[in-house]
Parts: sequence; structure tokens; C-alpha cells
Amino acid sequence: MKKKFYEKHNKYIFPCVSNYYQEPLVLEKGMDNQLTDIEGNDYLDFFGGILTVGLGHCRKEITEKVVEQYRTLQHCSTLYQNKPALLYAEKLAQITPGKLQKSIFTNSGSEADEHAVLLAQLATGNEEIITRRHAYSGASSLTMAMTALSPFRLGANYGYLKFAHAPYCYRCPFDKSYPGCDLICAKDVEELIKTCTRGKIAAFLAEPIMGVGGFITPPMEYYKEVEHIIRKYGGLFISDEVQTGWGRTGGKMFGIEQWGVEPDIMTMAKGAANGLPVGITIANPEIADHFKGQHISTFGGNPVSMAGALATLDYIEENNIQENCRIMGDYLRDKLKELQDKYRVIGEIRGMGLILGMEIVKENKEPDAEMVNKLFEETKKQGLLIGKGGLYGNVIRITPALNITKEEIDEAIKKLDNAFNAAIIC
Ligand code: PMP
Repeated sequence: MKKKFYEKHNKYIFPCVSNYYQEPLVLEKGMDNQLTDIEGNDYLDFFGGILTVGLGHCRKEITEKVVEQYRTLQHCSTLYQNKPALLYAEKLAQITPGKLQKSIFTNSGSEADEHAVLLAQLATGNEEIITRRHAYSGASSLTMAMTALSPFRLGANYGYLKFAHAPYCYRCPFDKSYPGCDLICAKDVEELIKTCTRGKIAAFLAEPIMGVGGFITPPMEYYKEVEHIIRKYGGLFISDEVQTGWGRTGGKMFGIEQWGVEPDIMTMAKGAANGLPVGITIANPEIADHFKGQHISTFGGNPVSMAGALATLDYIEENNIQENCRIMGDYLRDKLKELQDKYRVIGEIRGMGLILGMEIVKENKEPDAEMVNKLFEETKKQGLLIGKGGLYGNVIRITPALNITKEEIDEAIKKLDNAFNAAIIC
């Protein structure tokens, strides 16, 4: 049955839209953390449609609010005000760190990042942006160019983007080890600014944990060090929370709070409305007020997505989801460590809370993408969905729902264990 869908995919979808697995999944339905394909096979979902279905598929409390809104007011565009968008904007100002207050709503992380970059340029009068190697920012022209992973760079280059080294300790670009490295990757940002820019920058944009790049997690002093440098050269700090928001990193609502930095601008998307398209750029009011002129986003802040976002946030707050991420994150990490003791191919486990990665390697840390592919086929057979990433395609990304239970983690670990066993033997 799935063959006829594969034929349609090949015939009607752009070839750049690639899928996981030798035989891609054609999904039919989802409930909580379970997905079912068109052949009736069930899968335990530990990737959430790329960290997006943060509270489980078709979560009742959210679905009901979305359907109710759909029956009440479905669309109006940004030419008119609507209640859910304004209530949500007010809530965001209350829960985001520092002085972040004014938001602009769009439909994706790419748009959210584009707006953040433009805002920083308008507010500072400077043009140049510091991003980082191994970063992922999106699939629009600018955000593709900001993405520093060559397979995703399909479009134009922008001269005002400058690429700092990533804080990738497992494969340190300076061949040093933390803490003896004295944070050379952070300090090098100053030389980058002095040598490759006009000496004044608009912003530094960073995913606190580098997502598609393979959950690269910097040392705890890293962002303060970079913040100090970028502010010295007139730059704003933009935190891209598309993957790290909503409690995912455990104990805090947003990833950057773990490093104690107060960003001037923050972007969110993915899990904001548990699967409905939402892009958010929030900024300090004195910065946001530089974004004048005319602006329309037809679907940005539409009442249905905003009702979903409000219901998602209510659920997160009412159920102390950040705390669940912290506790279940520690539990999951311990279980992954047990697998690491058992399987030498697991070179490193990294991340925070429920955003955890495993770098899969051969001898001498050589990336082993082939093993990851085998593990993908085996986890599929076991009925477990996981993600992958990293420049070399050798990082397994494990990001269960934020409200995951211990029993579900135990089940996933059993399936992973079986998959490692089978992949290593085959
Ligand atoms: N920023 C980050 C950190 C992301 O992970 C992504 C998506 N993977 C984006 C931006 C772009 O989001 P979208 O796909 O919704 O445009």
C-alpha cells in the first residue's frame, strides 16, 4: 500500500524533501506518544516531529481549545486585532527572561530568525551578523545562508554573515580540551569581529544547544564570554529557542536561561503550539520600536494557531513541565549512559534535560554515519522513532515529549538496546 504513496512523493514533491528510512513511514494517526502508519504499525515517538509535538500528539486539552477557536473566529490577518494573539503576547512577556516584551508573530522558525536579524540591523544601524559553524537557522534564503552545514546551504550567500567557531568540545576546532582551552572558541569571536567585520556588528545569533548540528552543548561560561565581546562591538544577543524553548532543557523555560544570559531578542517556533505553525520574535521594547514601516503577515498570529499556543503554554505551566524535563532528563541520561557502557560506538552523550544526543563513532572518534543508518532501520523495526543530526550525520537525537513518563523512557531504552544489539551484530 505504501508503494503508491512513494510513487506520488517521487512524482509530485520536490526532490529536496527527503525522508528518514530506506522505506519512509507514511503516517496515518497519532495519540499521545504513539504514532501509527498506514499499515497499522505503531511507533513510540521520541522525536516529536522534530521537537515540535512537545506535549504528545492530539493532546486533548489543546485540541479542544483549537477546535473551539476554529468554530469561533478562524482567520483575520494582521490588519485586525484578535484576542488569542494579544493574550498570548502578554503571556510571553511575562514568562520570557529579562526585558523581552514586544512580539511579532509569523509561521515558522525561519521567519522568526529573519525578523530577528532584520530587527537587530534596524535597531543598531549595523549590518553584520555573527552566526556559528554547525548552526541551523532555517530554509528561507537568508536563514539557509546562516546555516553552516553544507548540505543545507542550497541558496545565495550574504556578505554580512560571519561564522564563528562552534563550541564543539568533542571535536574542538582548536584541538584543545575544556577547561584547559580557556574558552578559546568564545574568545576567538573578538578576533572574528576585528578582522572580518567593519568593527561594529548588529548581532550574534545562537541556538543555546545547536540542534540540527547535533546537540552541541557549550560549557557553562561560554555564552557570558561571547555576550561580553559582542556587546563591546555594539551587537545584540539573539537567542534562537526554536529547539530549546518551553522547558525542554529542564528546570528553566528557555535554554539560554541555563547560561544566565538575558537576550535582547529571542525567537521561538516548533513546540510553541504543539504542532500548529507559529513563529515568534520577541524583543526588548526599545529595540522592537525600531521596527517601523509597513508589515503584513497574512497568517502570523492567526487566532487558531494562537489559541493552540495559549493552550500549550497553559498546559506547560499547570503541569510544571520544566520540572518533568529536569527529572525525566536526568533519568533518560542515566539510562543512555548505561547503553554507552555497553556499546563502544557511543562516543559521547550530551545535551540537557530532554534534548539529548549520542555521537556514534568508530575507532579514534571517526564519525560513523553508516552505523546510525543501521540503527535507524533497527529502531524502526522495534517501533521507536528517533532523530539524527550533526555535520557528519552521526548524532542520534533523542527528544521525547516534555511530559514523558518513566515507563515510556524504560520502553524506549529497551527498544534502543535491542536496536544497538541488532545493528552491531548485522
Ligand atoms: N532555528 C532552529 C534552531 C531550528 O532548529 C529550525 C528548524 N529545524 C529553524 C530555526 C527553522 O524553523 P522552521 O523549520 O520552522 O522554519
